[in-house]
Amino acid sequence: MGMNGDTAPRSVPEKMKALQYSGPEKFAVVNIDVPEIGEDDVLVKISACGVCGTDLHYHKGEFLAKWPLIPGHEAAGTIAAIGQNVRNVAIGDRVVTDPLQACLTCFHCTRRKPLLCENITAFGGNVPGGFAEYCRYPARLVHPIGDLPDMEAVLVEPAACATHGIERMRIEVGSKVLLFGCGPTGILLAQFIRLNGAAHLTIASKGGPKLDLARELDIADSYITISDDQPLVQMDALKTVNPYGFDIVIEATGAPTVLEKSIEYVRKGGKLVVYGVYDENVKIAWAPFHIWENEITILASFCSMGHIPHVLEYVKAGKLKLGGIANKTYRIEEWAECLEAVRKQEIVKAAIVFE
Ligand SMILES: [Zn+2]
Ligand SMILES: [Zn+2]
Repeated sequence: MGMNGDTAPRSVPEKMKALQYSGPEKFAVVNIDVPEIGEDDVLVKISACGVCGTDLHYHKGEFLAKWPLIPGHEAAGTIAAIGQNVRNVAIGDRVVTDPLQACLTCFHCTRRKPLLCENITAFGGNVPGGFAEYCRYPARLVHPIGDLPDMEAVLVEPAACATHGIERMRIEVGSKVLLFGCGPTGILLAQFIRLNGAAHLTIASKGGPKLDLARELDIADSYITISDDQPLVQMDALKTVNPYGFDIVIEATGAPTVLEKSIEYVRKGGKLVVYGVYDENVKIAWAPFHIWENEITILASFCSMGHIPHVLEYVKAGKLKLGGIANKTYRIEEWAECLEAVRKQEIVKAAIVFE
């Protein structure tokens, strides 16, 4: 492999295993060259990388997917090599990685909206990501994590997305909040909602391992189980108990029917946050009159950029519970099995691990 400078340790091999897509739904474990790094880059030996709902979309060729693709954007690992200009980390440091890099020159970047960059570089989206033994990152995208366990470290990137959601929703003091969904993202969002000003948080979700974990972690003030067979009964009960609705309602299930219904729980003058990831072609129906008459604000939170240091502050302060969420690990050779388990929602969160 070509390295700049003399900082490459001899322990970095020439070849590595990676999970690579050649097109939608076409994947294989391949043996390829370890990526080269430039003078401002680092090479991370990946130890674990979270599996995200977004990876299911990449699997189908949606979003930014560009072939060939090595997915994985929730990576944690150890610095294996650094370019000659790198000062923020050293070989051997354990790090998490921020998967998005803005171009800084496009229309939106130059208007201080780098998250909405038109030429965004997405590690694990349109450039190689963390479902490989090694991955190259610009040094400024990696952040030291000390001895944070791998299975907690893979939650740092989703937590970063949640903190951006918190920035977007601007919770006012004394707010009552309703969160639909308590997948890994919901579990993280819930914690930040309570840490950032909500007086009361209700989680409404289907029953199952995710809701069980939410209760166990004690991350909300009240929990509503919405059953598949009689969803309207529990939904109506929610309205009886909360006749004035909620200041903020967050839809984090990704289910269009829930999103459509969720607006009914927004208090006059309140906000609805579109947080889930929906199929691209889905449409829902809302009455504009209802939005107008009740002065409802509808807002969205897409992803995150530059929020990892904030998350690590919460981690350092012992205020964010990350344990127990990533509860199943797979090798890249088991990717088909992993996809199936994620689809069936049998687990809270999966992570790919390497030796
Ligand atoms: Zn993700
Ligand atoms: Zn840009």
